[in-house]
Amino acid sequence: MNKENNFNPEIIVDSPGRINFIGGHTDYNNGFVLPAAIDKKIKFEFKKNGTTNICNVQSKNYNKFLVVDLAKIKPSTEGWENYILGVLQQLLDRSDRVRGFDCIISSELPIGSGLSSSAALECGLAYGINQLFDLRLSKLEIAQLSRDAEQEYVGTKCGIMDQYASVFGEENMVLFLDCLSLEYQLIPMQLTDYRVLIINTNVEHNLSTSHYNKRSEECEEGVEVIREKYNSVSSLRGVTLSMLEEVKEFMLPIVYQRCLYIIQENERVQKAAEYLKNNNLKSFGELLYQCHKGLRYQYEISCNELDFLVDFSKEKDFVLGSRMMGGGFGGCTINIIQKDFVETYIKEISQAYEDEFNIKLDAFQVAPSKGTNHQLLTIQENR
Ligand code: ADP
Ligand code: MG
Repeated sequence: MNKENNFNPEIIVDSPGRINFIGGHTDYNNGFVLPAAIDKKIKFEFKKNGTTNICNVQSKNYNKFLVVDLAKIKPSTEGWENYILGVLQQLLDRSDRVRGFDCIISSELPIGSGLSSSAALECGLAYGINQLFDLRLSKLEIAQLSRDAEQEYVGTKCGIMDQYASVFGEENMVLFLDCLSLEYQLIPMQLTDYRVLIINTNVEHNLSTSHYNKRSEECEEGVEVIREKYNSVSSLRGVTLSMLEEVKEFMLPIVYQRCLYIIQENERVQKAAEYLKNNNLKSFGELLYQCHKGLRYQYEISCNELDFLVDFSKEKDFVLGSRMMGGGFGGCTINIIQKDFVETYIKEISQAYEDEFNIKLDAFQVAPSKGTNHQLLTIQENR
């Protein structure tokens, strides 16, 4: 690859991270979610390199290079490479137009913290190659192939939400997405005197992938039990509370709790969408607290650090809602907070958190923003 200062990209792609206001772990259960793309992103610089097969990808964040021969793609033992390789494989499965390219990746997203740097990485790469070689894939195909890449090459049994939000996000809009039909509504978010504050625990208890997959299996186990009575059911989406109660005695208590959480959470997301449409941020925020309670006690994927941050906020009237976000066992909380209190609150909670855990947190505001997009550079700009 050319030295950095000689790198004249043909295309620059911005691929955002995402937040999810509510709908924790409902996506891989075919449920409802309420995400938005955010104003923090991964930037990709792309150019064709004239070869048929050789792709050079640099991650500036990791200061690492990956050289891929398109004729010989296989999974790697190096974690981040599998996101790249997985996407390339999916693209090759769908098109014969992909050729060699160079790509530089630089990210302003915290990695592994629940803001979905992984989906931003997959979707930005897929989007850029789609543009560069005119593969004519739709936005939906880009989201789906990115999800497939993460499932097959990384091994996460993830749903479609992260990729969907990263690709389809719009400025000041929240997506109310049905992960079963993939239909979505864009709901305007009028934050007025409020802001969305992300607080990163800066802990990762390293259980995420295994527990993530375990939860997915527990939900599937619940569906299997329910199917014995209701054989048309194929996911928890088709299950009501009364159906679950009918079969409660035939399932492990833990499986019952997981299913109960998902069914209740789907109801909360639908309510939250209504509150958002009516601009009732107070009731909307209350649902975030309820969601956290469910994730903590029923779905059991929280941790002390996340619980501390959410509990701390409960005493503050100027915080309307707070919950853990993402895979669990660390990462970030999402908070809706009155704008005049943001700075003092960050100071206060940072100090309290450090006193408790001897760890420094990070806190920053985000805003619902545009999904993956690109700029074509003109010849003049290139030179
Ligand atoms: P999240 O999506 O919440 O950030 P994940 O564990 O799903 O957390 O994805 C994080 C992984 O994505 C990283 O471990 C790394 O493999 C990959 N990744 C994300 N951003 C980058 C980047 N800028 N460079 C290289 N790899 C990245
Ligand atoms: Mg991820």
